[in-house]
Amino acid sequence: MEKQQFKAESQRLLDLMINSIYTHREIFLREIISNASDAIDKLAYTALTDDKVGIDRDQFAITITRDPENRTLTVSDNGIGMSKAELEENLGTIAKSGSLGFKQAMEKNEDIDIIGQFGVGFYSAFMVASSITVISKKYGEDTAWKWVSDGADGYTIEQAGKETPGTDIIMTLKADSEEEKYSRFLEEYEIRSLIRKYSDYIRYPIRMEVTKSRPVEQAEGAEGEEGEDKTPKYESYTEMETLNSMVPIWQRAKKDVTQEEYETFYRDKFFDYNKPLRIMHSSAEGSVSFKALLYIPGKAPYDFYTKDFKRGLQLYSSGVMIMENCEDLLPEHFRFVRGVVDSQDLSLNISREMLQHNRQLTIIARNIEKKIKSELKAMLDNDREKYEQFYGAFGRQLKYGTVSDYGAHKDACQDLLLFYSHKQGKLVSLKEYVEAMAEGQEKIYFAPGENKDRLAKLPQVETLAQKGYDVLLFTEDVDEFIPQTLMTYQEKSFCNVSSEDLGLQSEEEKKQAEEKTEEMKGFLTFVKESLGDQVKEVKLSSNLGSHPVCMTPDAGMSFEMEKYMKRMNPEFAFPVGRILELNPDHEAVKTLQRVMTEDPVKAKDYAQLLCYQAQLMAELPLEDPYAYTQLVCKLMN
Ligand code: ADP
Repeated sequence: MEKQQFKAESQRLLDLMINSIYTHREIFLREIISNASDAIDKLAYTALTDDKVGIDRDQFAITITRDPENRTLTVSDNGIGMSKAELEENLGTIAKSGSLGFKQAMEKNEDIDIIGQFGVGFYSAFMVASSITVISKKYGEDTAWKWVSDGADGYTIEQAGKETPGTDIIMTLKADSEEEKYSRFLEEYEIRSLIRKYSDYIRYPIRMEVTKSRPVEQAEGAEGEEGEDKTPKYESYTEMETLNSMVPIWQRAKKDVTQEEYETFYRDKFFDYNKPLRIMHSSAEGSVSFKALLYIPGKAPYDFYTKDFKRGLQLYSSGVMIMENCEDLLPEHFRFVRGVVDSQDLSLNISREMLQHNRQLTIIARNIEKKIKSELKAMLDNDREKYEQFYGAFGRQLKYGTVSDYGAHKDACQDLLLFYSHKQGKLVSLKEYVEAMAEGQEKIYFAPGENKDRLAKLPQVETLAQKGYDVLLFTEDVDEFIPQTLMTYQEKSFCNVSSEDLGLQSEEEKKQAEEKTEEMKGFLTFVKESLGDQVKEVKLSSNLGSHPVCMTPDAGMSFEMEKYMKRMNPEFAFPVGRILELNPDHEAVKTLQRVMTEDPVKAKDYAQLLCYQAQLMAELPLEDPYAYTQLVCKLMN
């Protein structure tokens, strides 16, 4: 029989398939089964208008047959089948097949790694098979045909015997090698797990003969004899079993799914044994229809805040999984959400590259983002305890989301943030902070530092508390970047209490302060000169309450940032200018001023001591703790 050659472009794809990388080989089964399901769809559709089809809907099935002896794996369907011309047309040329998307992607010189990401069609079977035989009978025709190819040198077609319409795809698996044990695709367990992984929600039963065991009934009289082994005996037998569950949970109506079913699905699908905090099941119709089942986990996975964590939702097209982690469906700031999206409007043959620019996908993603945002907002408003649990796990992600991309996503995130309120002693949202602002308060005050308790003792926080003003205590690295990104919240500006003017002084008070500074100029110069490069500036402050001194950072900077940079990348770390503020009404400062004239050498030591104190209060490490203790001892003598 004369061999027919594949079209040139098909040949190139075949070569790629045959030499494809290991990890993606298993998807061939998904592809072959998806074709079988499509073929059944077509015949089922025909049956709607043609009563000669003669097959009941519940007889439609895909059957998998393993034949380890002959090394073949067969996938059969009782769908529409192919005529001789269709076999040639569909399997002999790639332009007609779903592999087209793959080919186009390849032409753009994309990484071959995309194979696993989208439908590559019938040819993918050559990843595991050295030879493929297709026996098909088209519905309504008398003759069946047999198409045979070993991939490399084309194919043959001849007449075959087959009674009923449908198609058998018979794959002779390649010989096992060091690098791949192809015979694993003949193992019951392997096939079962591949079906569950990729084709669980195919709408027709995928059936396979499986081996089971049962106790053997003992013949009468054989029992009870002395010395006879009484342990029950088992025999194995085979039985046809349906491997797929067919109707995905997200395709069912919400009212028909129990909480337990949702939770079990979540656990099995995403391997998370903690109960999800929230479950969102939605169905959208319109320019794009899709179903989504989304979960807000109760705990962050151990690798959540590392780059190993894979964000994304599982993407299905009519029950067939086309992507494991579709990143484009889920914005980075909501990367903690787990779930599944299914849309029949997406074709199975879509590549990752094409998906990114896919209009339907963009619409779905926007819809999902909105949904998650409103769900979280509702939880914040109505189920605070749960929300705080969620926030404990993923709050940091929302903060990152707020500041990332120069605040591009702040609208989605800012109202979901919580910070610790000094006055209320609990977490509050920015909205709640503003609503509770005292009469006359203009700014949103925050204090950055490592520890809530110590922050609460800051002189500035004390001063504000006396006026009845609340201060948000920022204890996470990222917190401080939030005011910088938001600039304002509900038209209120933010004020870093440890570096910015608290805005509490009246014009009159400001003038008085300036006069006082002028008056004490000589003293301030003396302190600055005593301390040299340790401080950038020495000035008076009226915000210090009962404290003698404090250290504040140079405008626009903060000590927390300095520390943060040092931790993240010491190379880029920079020292933030230190400003020593003195409380002119404090006894210690008054003493220093007096000693300055009486004993300037001693006064220099006093100035140094106050400078050390200010550093300790600001949680700044002392560069030379030894010098500090020496100084204290010296002054005590
Ligand atoms: P795709 O299915 O994405 O179009 P394939 O390369 O997998 O691409 O298949 C090419 C064509 O071959 C299909 O479009 C279909 O017309 C036909 N085909 C493949 N498998 C079957 C089958 N089991 N029954 C009927 N037709 C099939």
